[in-house]
Amino acid sequence: MFNKKTIREIDIKNKKVIVRVDFNVPLDDDLNITDDTRIRLSLPTIEYLRDNNAKIILISHLGRPKGKPEDRFRLDPVAKRLEELTGIRVKKFDETFSLEIKDYIDKNMSDDEIVILENLRFNPGEKENDRDFSKSLASLADIFVDDAFGAAHRAHASVVGIPEFLPAVSGLLLEKEVETLTTLLESPQRPFLTILGGSKVSDKIKVIKNLMEKVDSLILGGGMTYTFLKAQGYEIGKSICEDDQLDYAMDMIELAKKNNVNFLLPVDITIASEFDENSEKKVVPIDSIPADWMGLDIGIRSGEIFKKEIMSASTIFWNGPVGVFEWEKFSSGTKNIALAVAESNAITVVGGGDTVAAVKKYGVSDKISHVSSGGGASMELLEGKLLPGIEALNDK
Ligand code: AMP
Repeated sequence: MFNKKTIREIDIKNKKVIVRVDFNVPLDDDLNITDDTRIRLSLPTIEYLRDNNAKIILISHLGRPKGKPEDRFRLDPVAKRLEELTGIRVKKFDETFSLEIKDYIDKNMSDDEIVILENLRFNPGEKENDRDFSKSLASLADIFVDDAFGAAHRAHASVVGIPEFLPAVSGLLLEKEVETLTTLLESPQRPFLTILGGSKVSDKIKVIKNLMEKVDSLILGGGMTYTFLKAQGYEIGKSICEDDQLDYAMDMIELAKKNNVNFLLPVDITIASEFDENSEKKVVPIDSIPADWMGLDIGIRSGEIFKKEIMSASTIFWNGPVGVFEWEKFSSGTKNIALAVAESNAITVVGGGDTVAAVKKYGVSDKISHVSSGGGASMELLEGKLLPGIEALNDK
């Protein structure tokens, strides 16, 4: 249950509203936006605010500038795209805050425009959660709306600082994300299957442990597989492995037994003679990985077994590719998981940058019930953590 106030539960009519959005979109070398999903996802909140005659001031970060302006991280391409998507004039300022901006909003801002400030991370106060910076941003508006799920796990000025000075409520995207993900943890339709991939066990330690208490089945693929295989005594050749996580891997295998979780690891592996996209490849059972080869994808038989599990689940959460899907030769496992998840009748939730990229690459993102806009934030929620950006908002 989402117990924070949303824009539907506060009087926003004719108010000045500062909205933290997540416009951290990918740009190519010519500063063209290559995927505008994150801008599109903010549109329901923007439309709702406009329907209520609110004056909208948008704030966001983009990329990882180091606390000072860098032209390649300016929000101009974002402002332009927002204008194209909404048909509304977007006035972009080149600073994160100034008294001129405040003056403009107070005296000259018209009802027919949206204001957007410059990339928050140009100001060192953003990441430091500087009180003066939060106060300045708060001085621009009457109400703070957080719609940036992708930044909800960051205790930054625009996320947790502004709510100290203004009534603070959730936007429609943030509400939807949190509700969807907490439903997975609290009351999923069963059987509940989670598929975890990606390169490192150490990134997923807490999430695997927490999900072991919640799921009926857990499929593990990707680079993490080999730590689990080695822990059980298999030869894994030159596959990636975290030797300091071998005990943890065994603990998880034991925990799965104790909790009656159907814990599925690959039974066969697509191996390569070297870490190269054109490497020679072959498929072998997990007990036959030669000492000088490495696993880069699940095998065909594993894909079939995983598909069967996917088809019998009622709720599915997927995070992390099960192979080096960026390379055609080692992409089949991830592709087949994406297609199977899309084909299933279950409630399907996909999170994480690579996984979202995979469902898009294979053209099935519109067949997924919920594609999460926050990789890090969604994982932290599933670890059972409270996210600072959500905690900072006003209770219902
Ligand atoms: P992560 O950033 O931890 O979610 O991991 C995603 C990355 O894991 C992707 O870039 C994949 O290429 C990579 N990956 C998946 N399987 C393997 C593997 N068997 N060996 C090495 N890297 C892998």
